[in-house]
This record gives sequence, structure tokens and C-alpha cells, in this order.
Amino acid sequence: MIQFNEPPFTGKEIEYIKQAVAAQHICGDGVFTKRCHQWLEERMQSPKALLTTSCTHALEMAALLLEIRPGDEVIMPSYTFASTADAFVMRGARIVFVDLRPDTMNLDETLLEDAITPKTRAIVVMHYAGVACEMEPILDLADRFHLAVVEDAAQAVMSSYHGIPLGSIGDYGCYSFHETKNYSMGEGGALLIRDLENRDRAEIIREKGTDRSKFWRGEVDKYTWVDFGSSYLPSDLNAAYLWAQLEQADAINEHRLRLWNQYYRELFSLAEQGCLSLPVIPAGCKHNAHMFYIKTDNIIQRSALIRFLKEREIGAVFHYIPLHTVAAGKKYGRFHGIDRYTTKESERLLRLPLHNHVTEADVEQVCAALKEFYGK
Ligand SMILES: *Cc1c(COP(=O)(O)O)cnc(C)c1O
Repeated sequence: MIQFNEPPFTGKEIEYIKQAVAAQHICGDGVFTKRCHQWLEERMQSPKALLTTSCTHALEMAALLLEIRPGDEVIMPSYTFASTADAFVMRGARIVFVDLRPDTMNLDETLLEDAITPKTRAIVVMHYAGVACEMEPILDLADRFHLAVVEDAAQAVMSSYHGIPLGSIGDYGCYSFHETKNYSMGEGGALLIRDLENRDRAEIIREKGTDRSKFWRGEVDKYTWVDFGSSYLPSDLNAAYLWAQLEQADAINEHRLRLWNQYYRELFSLAEQGCLSLPVIPAGCKHNAHMFYIKTDNIIQRSALIRFLKEREIGAVFHYIPLHTVAAGKKYGRFHGIDRYTTKESERLLRLPLHNHVTEADVEQVCAALKEFYGK
């Protein structure tokens, strides 16, 4: 069986967890959390990175830091995971969904300006499959209309846009270290903060509204309740698990890219013959091979293909029923403009197995099955 997903595991995780236990510091912000913070800040050229309990929680922190209030509007793609919207809906915002670009499945940056109203506070971009949204015009627009930019970079750790790491471009960047992502700590994530002036408030919100982070740094001699907050810091046990992978991030990234390129090469002839479509990586975007997807003609062909692959013990899945078409999306948001591509393209997309434990032989097997399905 070629599983669709297997949790990342490099082999050092248990040893590092033992070290955290031996250090008698298993709550948050221990030695492994600090190592992860430092690594993220260096690699992502970010002035401040904070591990969180999930990407969902990093997005919640961003919404709190931006002081999103009832009546505010937040623009985002409809083709995304529920968490992208949840964080802002929980602060009372209305979600304005825009259509996507069929080449990357990212939000169409040319549709944003028309979706802005006097109530708009933020644009939330999601870098689908670790491929960057067209950030330059998005930042320009945000600047002109005084809007915040939040990156849901859950899938985009180690990706970049014209050399700039994704997650470090917007006011806030949110990573996921869920077990389905390239690097994992079971459940977890990180918040990247672009402007240092927002650091203290973020630390306070993450630490139950207290200035405990300043206390640890010796900047205050006792810590107290100074603002509202919650508990968004993960245990150092989880950070120890993550550290084993961040340490080998380049090797993991290279392995995934090798598999991605192999898929692309082996399926190219099927694409040329018009059987399926392959993903597009625009110029200036360096991706992290978070996923490999193909597009079938339509939903009927996709269902048949999933069944066909399942009979050959290959796990292939689709995802994201567009948010504007489901119950919560209708209740909390509206689609701006015409749904030209979101629904249609979402029904064609199929993800093939690509995780840290997939081998080149696995990819060969999956591609052979696809060629068999299309009779080539
Ligand atoms: C995985 C994912 C999330 C959620 O991440 P968690 O760490 O599980 O909260 C949010 N947005 C996108 C686009 C994702 O892919």
C-alpha cells in the first residue's frame, strides 16, 4: 500500500524528547523551542518567530493582534482550509471570498481591489501547495488601502517568492507543523512577526496575557497579568520532535523536490496528450514540494480514478470543498464576483502520495497506474 500520508520521522525524535525530559523542562519555551525559534528566525529572515500549538492558533493570534472586530471584513480565497476563515470569524469578521487562478489555485490578485470596501481590514493569502501567491501587487494594494496582510503559509515552510521566504512577507505569517505537513511536531505551528513593534504583544497573547516572556529574559523582576491572552505555546516535547526535522530540513526538502520532479517528468506525456493537467510554478516562485496534484477532466473522471488507484493500493485524495459553498461559509461570508474557477477547478484536483517516506519506486508505481488508467 502506498499511503497518501505518513507522519514525518527522521529517527532523532525520541532521543530529543528524552533530552527534554532529562532537562526537566517539558512545558513551553524550553531549550528545543528556543532552538526552533532561532532556526526559523535565521532561515526565514524573520525578526521574531514563535512556536504555537497549531497553525490555526497562529492565525487566531494574528486576528487578535490585528484587533479584528465584529463588522470588519477580511478577504481570502474560498479554496482553502476552514482554519483560514475560522480565526477571523471568531473575532466577528465577515469573510469576503474571491475567485482563484486556475494555474496555481491561489487567490487571483487581480480581483482583490474590487472586493475592498470601507470595512475591509485585512487580506489573508494562502500559498497553495507551497507555491507563492503573487505578493508584490498584493502588498502594493494593502499599502494603498491600509490593509494588513496575513499569510496562511501552513503549506509553505521553505518556499520563497523572488528569494523571500514565504511567511515572512506579510504582517504575520502562519506555519503548520501538523503531521500532514513537510515538517511536523504532531500538532503545532508558528507565527512569524514582520515588525518587531508587534513582538511584545504577541508574546503576551501567547502566554495567557502575562509578560512572562519578559520575565524569562530578565527584563522584569516579576510577571503579571497585563492584557488579554490565551495559551498558544506548545510543550517542549513537541518542539523536540520538530527539532529533529528542522535540523534536516534541507535533506527533506531535496527529497520531496526530487519526488515532485519525478512525478512531473513521468506524467508530462499524459499532459501533452491532453489526458490530465499538471501544476504550474510561476517564475520567481521556489516551492517546497508540499504536494503533487494533477487535474482530471471533471469530478466524474476524478471519482473513477480514485477508485482505480485504490484497487491498486494507492492512496489519492482531493480536498477543499470551496468554503463559500458550505454551511459555515454561507453563514459567515459571501463570494465577491463570479465563481469562474473555484468550484470547477476544485472538482478536478487530485493529490498523489508525496510525503517524506515516499520512494522513487513508489512514484514510478503511481505513474504507471495513471498511464494504465488513461490507456497509455
Ligand atoms: C494544515 C493547514 C491549516 C491548519 O493547520 P493546523 O496546524 O492543523 O492548525 C491551515 N491552513 C492551511 C492552508 C493548511 O493547509
